[in-house]
Amino acid sequence: MLDTLDISIQKVPSSRINEVDFDNIPFGKVYSDHMFIADYEDGQWSDLRIVPYANLSMAPASSVIHYGQSVFEGLKAYKNNDGEAVVFRPDANAKRLNRSAERMCIPEVPEELFMQAMTELLKVDKDWIPNKENTALYIRPYVFAMDDYIGIKPSEKYRFMIITCPVGAYYSEPVKVKIETEFTRAAKGGTGYAKAAGNYAGSLYPAKLAQKQGYHQLVWTDATEHKYIEESGTMNIMFVINDTLITPEASSTILKGITRDSVLTLARDWGMKVEERKISITEVIEAAKNGTLQDAFGAGTAATIAHIKLIGHEGVDYTLPPIEQRAFSNKVLKAMDAIKLGEAEDKFDWIYK
Ligand code: PMP
Repeated sequence: MLDTLDISIQKVPSSRINEVDFDNIPFGKVYSDHMFIADYEDGQWSDLRIVPYANLSMAPASSVIHYGQSVFEGLKAYKNNDGEAVVFRPDANAKRLNRSAERMCIPEVPEELFMQAMTELLKVDKDWIPNKENTALYIRPYVFAMDDYIGIKPSEKYRFMIITCPVGAYYSEPVKVKIETEFTRAAKGGTGYAKAAGNYAGSLYPAKLAQKQGYHQLVWTDATEHKYIEESGTMNIMFVINDTLITPEASSTILKGITRDSVLTLARDWGMKVEERKISITEVIEAAKNGTLQDAFGAGTAATIAHIKLIGHEGVDYTLPPIEQRAFSNKVLKAMDAIKLGEAEDKFDWIYK
C-alpha cells in the first residue's frame, strides 16, 4: 500500500453549480467544477492535482490523437438515503482499467492512486452528486498517451485524468435493438475485452446505420459467423428463457461488465438458474417466437438495466413481453437501487463510502 498520496488542490474561484438545472440533466454534457490530473514520465506517476475543469493544452503530434492509445472507465457516485456519497464497486473499475491498460501498452495506475484521486475529487465536488431519483454523478477516469512523437510505438508519457458529470436517466424508454450480422465490434485476439477508445470509434458507424432504421442500439454478434450474441451497444446483454438467466460467457471479445457481474451475483444468490454460455441468434429468435423468452435487457453502468422491448433481425421485428411482466429485470433493478441507496443490506460489499 502506498501512503496517503500528495494531491494538490486548486479550487475554482466560484462554482458553476447554480447554473445547472438538476431536474433536467442531459447525459454527459455538464461537468463538475474540478478534475483530477496525474502525469506519467520516467516510469512514474507524479504531479497529482485537482484543478478547475478546463481545456487541455497538448502537442499536435500527441500520439493519442493519431493512434488512439487510450483507455477509460465509467462508474457512478450516488447520494444514499442518509445523504452520504457512495460509489458502486470502484475497486472493480480500478482493476478493469489496468486490464485494459495492459492490452494497450499503457502503464498501470496503482489502485491506491485511482481510489484516492477519485475520493479526493468527490470530496471537492460532493455537491455535484445529485440526489433525485434516477440521477447520479457519472465518474470518467481515463489514461492516454502524451508523447509528442508521430512514429508508432508505445508512448513514454501518459496522463491519467478523472472528470465527473451529473447525469439523469440514460434511456428514457425501453430500447429497440437490431441484431448486427454484417459489422463486427470485436474479434478474437483483438481489443474487445478492453475499454479502449478505438473500440467505441469503430462501433459508431454501424450504430448510426441502425439508428437510421429506427433502432436505438445494436446487438453485436461474433466476428466469424455472426451467429452468436455478444453484447448490446455498450452494455452486456442478458435473457431469461424458461426461467433461466442466460448471458454470453466472458471472452476476449466481450467487455466484462461490473453491472453484469452484479446481476449474475444477485441472481445466483436468489437461487435462480444462471448460465454463462454461447447463445445463438436462432435460440433467442425461437424463444421470442414461441413465448419462452420472458426477459431481455442490457446491463451497464450508464442505464443499470435497459429493458429491450423489440429485437430486429433480418428485417423482421420481434416484440418482446410487456416491461411490467418482466419479473427478473424489474426485481434486479430494484435490488441494485436499494443497495445503492442504503435501503438494503450491502451483502457483497459493493458500496464504497
Ligand atoms: N460492454 C461495453 C462494450 C461497455 O462499454 C460497457 C460499459 N462500461 C459494458 C459492457 C458494461 O460494463 P459496466 O457494467 O461495467 O458498465
